[in-house]
Amino acid sequence: MTGMRRVTRGAVEIRMQRVPHFLGGGRISIQDRPIPDPAAGQLLLRIRANALCGTDRAQLRDGSTVTPGHEAAGEVVEVGSGTSTAIGTQGVVFLMDFCGACRSCRDGATNQCLAKRGDMGFTHDGGLGQLELVHESNFFATGPDIDPAEATLLLDVMGTTSHALGRARAARDSIRSLLVGGAGPIGLGTVAMAHILWKGVHVVVADLIPYRLALAQRLGAQTIDLGAQGLDSGLRAIGFDRDGADIAIDTSGRGHSRRSLLDALGRRGVLVCVGHGEELTLSVSDDLIIPERTVMGSEYFRYDALPANLALLRGNLDYLGQLITHRFGIGDLQAAYDLFFAGQTGKVVVEQ
Ligand SMILES: [Zn+2]
Ligand SMILES: [Zn+2]
Repeated sequence: MTGMRRVTRGAVEIRMQRVPHFLGGGRISIQDRPIPDPAAGQLLLRIRANALCGTDRAQLRDGSTVTPGHEAAGEVVEVGSGTSTAIGTQGVVFLMDFCGACRSCRDGATNQCLAKRGDMGFTHDGGLGQLELVHESNFFATGPDIDPAEATLLLDVMGTTSHALGRARAARDSIRSLLVGGAGPIGLGTVAMAHILWKGVHVVVADLIPYRLALAQRLGAQTIDLGAQGLDSGLRAIGFDRDGADIAIDTSGRGHSRRSLLDALGRRGVLVCVGHGEELTLSVSDDLIIPERTVMGSEYFRYDALPANLALLRGNLDYLGQLITHRFGIGDLQAAYDLFFAGQTGKVVVEQ
């Protein structure tokens, strides 16, 4: 392996890697950390790309004892016993280290595992290091034809959003209008996956940031600039579904966004909350019972969604590739975060 250092402690030689250490207060230092050996059932990956995500903000603010990064793509460089993945296989890391045996996993709901071993990049070292140790069960092989940065689109951008669309469709199958709150990476991914999966559905996205609204327009959505007008008047100006939205998806996590999306729903409308964050207060009679609306949450996605999304990525690479607006080397991680959190980006990918 290139780039690996070795230090000797007593008689033991330890392999070392350089990783970003999140100190808190937005500061990042570079540290040498030991490279783990893959145990039974595990793979060691050489990370090639990791996409930045809004949820990294808390780790930047509070610091992290583990190496962050939960949207990683890389190449298998070492394998533990009992695995069948070949060295050199390229793929992505599913965030949740699911058990594969509990009630949820047996139902295929691996994003709801009842005995999860951890969350990569949150409880275990993630994809901003040079190497990442994963269980073979939460590695997904993509094949060598997919660029690692574009492979990361399979995770939050395609996976989390198609799962939310699927949850909405399970509650309502007749859909002509979709309203998306927030045009960050998840909002833009929702626009893109609706464009691919829900052809003919009128998609409108609302946000405050002109850069992201312009990107949403390039992806085929109509937009409402919440810096210039309220959601309600924006929807009227566009001539949005006069019966109210069939589906609304909140990616912002803001309480006022959730509330205004709920108010924009029509009868039998469905609100899916994807963005973590603030509260939503409901009037059970007026919001739910009388109009028979559904309010639901959607958390990440199921591992078994990856093959279909890989086929969609291959078939829509130029279209979906527009979502990655910036690529940085790992040495420019701080600058990458600064630009990303200023909002003047789509998805930002760090490569190494
Ligand atoms: Zn993410
Ligand atoms: Zn499980």
